[in-house]
Amino acid sequence: MRNSPVSIKPRGENWGQRIQSPAVNLTPFYFLLPVLLACLVLVAACQRDGEHGAELYVFGTLVEIKLWGVAAQDASHAFAEIQQMFQAMHRDWHAWEPGRLTDINRAFAEGRSATADADIVEVIRRSQSLETATGGRFNPAIGALIRLWGFHTSDYPIEGPPPSQAQISALLDLHPSTADIRIEGLEVSTGNPAVQLDLGGIAKGYAVDLTIARLRAMGINNAIVNAGGDLRAMGTHGDRPWRVAVRKPGGGNVGSIQVHGDEAIFTSGNYERFRQDQARRYPHIIDPATGWPAKDVASATVITAEGILADGVATALVVAGLDGWPEVARALKLKQVAVVDENGTVYMTPAMEQRLEFTGDFKRVIVDPGAGPGSRDRGQSKVPGPGTGVTGTGVRVKCQSNYSGTLL
Ligand code: AMP
Ligand code: MG
Repeated sequence: MRNSPVSIKPRGENWGQRIQSPAVNLTPFYFLLPVLLACLVLVAACQRDGEHGAELYVFGTLVEIKLWGVAAQDASHAFAEIQQMFQAMHRDWHAWEPGRLTDINRAFAEGRSATADADIVEVIRRSQSLETATGGRFNPAIGALIRLWGFHTSDYPIEGPPPSQAQISALLDLHPSTADIRIEGLEVSTGNPAVQLDLGGIAKGYAVDLTIARLRAMGINNAIVNAGGDLRAMGTHGDRPWRVAVRKPGGGNVGSIQVHGDEAIFTSGNYERFRQDQARRYPHIIDPATGWPAKDVASATVITAEGILADGVATALVVAGLDGWPEVARALKLKQVAVVDENGTVYMTPAMEQRLEFTGDFKRVIVDPGAGPGSRDRGQSKVPGPGTGVTGTGVRVKCQSNYSGTLL
């Protein structure tokens, strides 16, 4: 990767720090929000055979942006605008560092109304319909529960015992729900002081959608934005599609996905961030019905047209578990879903099977969510080639450390 003619001006104390390799540990996007203002670092910008790329290194997370067929000056302008957008999101969306969202949460707790901005209002509206559509599995009003579990921190791993059932029940009994939020213009309020917004399960999807929309408004129609492995793309990489490699833990790839034009590919996992108590792990995705972390599903990957939908439902699919995910897929009319269990077995919809090009040996089970509850046919395992079986690895479209994906 050569130095780029694309000029992006370093800003802030940590700007200019260069990372030698993109192979860094990536964490989900929510963790890029806490530090965007403080240490947003553009680590690389390059031009290569018609491709302009920029990498924003934020809080251990790499956001890769690639543009195709764009003049250097336009690419530079686009990267600068995206950087500003991320900075604004940091200011407004953080769940525990003081900002607009914490102001809203404080107002909710005190029974006051608060003024949001148009983006937060839009995300609340989308969250309300997603909460309903997922049967309450996606519920960003459970911020107090997420805080109780200790997940409002940037310092992982968290160690120590889980909260007591009494503490969990005390919050559950208050039934926080986005349905409790009233929206009038930009004014938001609730009669339920237990409602505390945590947008970590949906923010990245919204940001990726915004990025693509901004690029399009600038006349850029061939781009990919990979925010910590959750991505949205449009157009092509010249005469070939954008492609995402799917890696497996410990190195190598399990396969790849060719991006078809404008679509989003998101993955939620239960293993990246967790509380560790001796031998037990308590993942950061909480089932709003029980107040306890989701089980069963190691990761859920979904391909949809929109990042915000893909992000929200990927989280809900993890909560739904192995028995419940087809129901969520059916309710949301999701065609392309892959769910990996703790043993590395990949459960896929027929349409997802068409998209995932496996390079390794994985036990695969095709599930048609349209066929109704209990349609998972464990006897229909498709294992390619002789001598293959369950490998203990699975599909993951997140970069690095665990199941991971990268742009090809
Ligand atoms: P994701 O990586 O998109 O699945 O988002 C996980 C993040 O979403 C967590 O770190 C929490 O901030 C938040 N979260 C956890 N459980 C839920 C849930 N059931 N519904 C909505 N957001 C959640
Ligand atoms: Mg999500």
